Amino acid sequence: MNKSENKKIANTLFPHIDSSIEKYIKKYPKRDLPTTAKITRFGPSPTGFLHIGGLFTAIVSERLAHQSKGVFFLRIEDTDKKREVKDGVRGIVSALEKFEIKIDEGIKSIDKKINKYGPYKQSDRKEIYLTFIKYLIETGNAYPCFCSPEELRIKRKSQELQKIRSGYYGEWALHRNITLDEVKNNLTQGRGFVIRLKSNGNEINKIPFNDLIKGNISIRENDLDVVLLKSDQLPTYHFAHVVDDYLMKTTHIIRGDEWLSSLPIHLQIFDLFNWQAPYYAHISPILKSDNGNKRKLSKRKDTEASVEYYFKEGYPSDAIIEYLLNIANPNFEDWRYQNPNLLNTEFEIKLEKFNKSGALFDINKLSNISKDIIAKMSENEMYDQTLKWTLEYDLNFAKKVSKNKDYLLKIFSVERNTDKPRKDIGKWSEVKNNIFYFFNDLFEEYISKNMITYPEILNENTVKEILTSYIKYYNSHLSKDDWFSDLKKFAESLGFASNIKLYKQKPNNYKGCVGDIAMVLRIALTSKSMAPDLHEIMHVMGEENVKERLQFSANNI
Ligand code: GLU
Repeated sequence: MNKSENKKIANTLFPHIDSSIEKYIKKYPKRDLPTTAKITRFGPSPTGFLHIGGLFTAIVSERLAHQSKGVFFLRIEDTDKKREVKDGVRGIVSALEKFEIKIDEGIKSIDKKINKYGPYKQSDRKEIYLTFIKYLIETGNAYPCFCSPEELRIKRKSQELQKIRSGYYGEWALHRNITLDEVKNNLTQGRGFVIRLKSNGNEINKIPFNDLIKGNISIRENDLDVVLLKSDQLPTYHFAHVVDDYLMKTTHIIRGDEWLSSLPIHLQIFDLFNWQAPYYAHISPILKSDNGNKRKLSKRKDTEASVEYYFKEGYPSDAIIEYLLNIANPNFEDWRYQNPNLLNTEFEIKLEKFNKSGALFDINKLSNISKDIIAKMSENEMYDQTLKWTLEYDLNFAKKVSKNKDYLLKIFSVERNTDKPRKDIGKWSEVKNNIFYFFNDLFEEYISKNMITYPEILNENTVKEILTSYIKYYNSHLSKDDWFSDLKKFAESLGFASNIKLYKQKPNNYKGCVGDIAMVLRIALTSKSMAPDLHEIMHVMGEENVKERLQFSANNI
């Protein structure tokens, strides 16, 4: 087919579109940045919640850009109008905001946009795609295909029956050499069309390729005449990716490895335009163990696939980020150990340190990281985060939290700000269960539903005696050491050994030892046999509350 025929086809299809791609190439010049600066992007589709795997690529992309003094932008890939959900963009942007991912261009936050190399929303770039598509048709590298879905289905079926590779290629590419007259005819009949790539590749040919994560791999040339522009005149991922990342000057594409198989198509399109392709780094998915098999975390089946799940559970965003950094670069753990007080943004992420295959999602690891992070927070930060979380997810408890700020600050200060702070809270949803005993109503509610058990060696009467006697004995003004010496005296007065050694020497001489007394008090005050330091707990509760609680527990044995 000659050039002028191609031009006429292009004009017949897109009469109002200018095919001069130079206009755009000039409009978006090379960025004025040092050669080592990486330009990266995150391109979510607003088809539902933000996937944890999406967050992973977003963090990696952002860190790589900013660590190299480059640019990170957010591009909304909304070309699949059927799968789009209402408020999808808002959901993504607000989730990224919660992780403090710094966006330089695109939708920066719910109410702020930066439009340097934009528009950054693909549905606002229609005119651009049509210009580039028209150019490809004119140059004989793309053509309209009028096959109906039914015709394509029959084609596929017959390929299946003949046991040959399915797809639109070679002799199966019916409209590959469509003439101007045929185009006009089809249009007159009102038939819809897509624009396909006129592939010049041969699938026998293998091309060596260096992926920044997968390493040196070999890929097959693409010979499929894939769709570049859909019948709704919006581009497919393949076409939009190439045009956008070229114009926006992306240097490094970090994306899920489900795209690796279509990489030959992308390289081919870059080639057709004579553009240099960017570097690619294909990330393996986060896996889940399911009945002994490993599989991708699934949007439909696994609640933990959505970042919303982590917000609801109340993991601090830093814990999620650090967990993902651990998956990205396993040396992060060691770095964190060496640099306990640095911000995780200071950790230099390296693509060459990535695992080539997918990491297994490990909720225990996330929980441990989270406990470490929460343990290091100040009581004020604990308070702010707890209030924020409860306001969103547990309004009832939020009321208590906001009414009792000073009390909560004291509660949170128990065993905090020491060399070895207590690590018993892994997420904000655990706070209530962790500290409920500081509140009478919550304590009463708890024991109305749960059995409280005291040490087995002590019978009910002894427990009651310990509690009622201690109400009279308790002196709230003693320092920790004095208080404990005092407790020993109290133990002796009730026939208990003042230390375990004495007790072990002559167990028959005693009802138990001082440790049993402390255990009874701990359980009576908190309902738990494992709780923070007893002296601190009593100090925070205050004398009156302690006595009231001991009496209440004595009445409820
Ligand atoms: N919209 C694509 C996706 O959600 C983006 C892939 C890419 O980063 O290129 O998978």
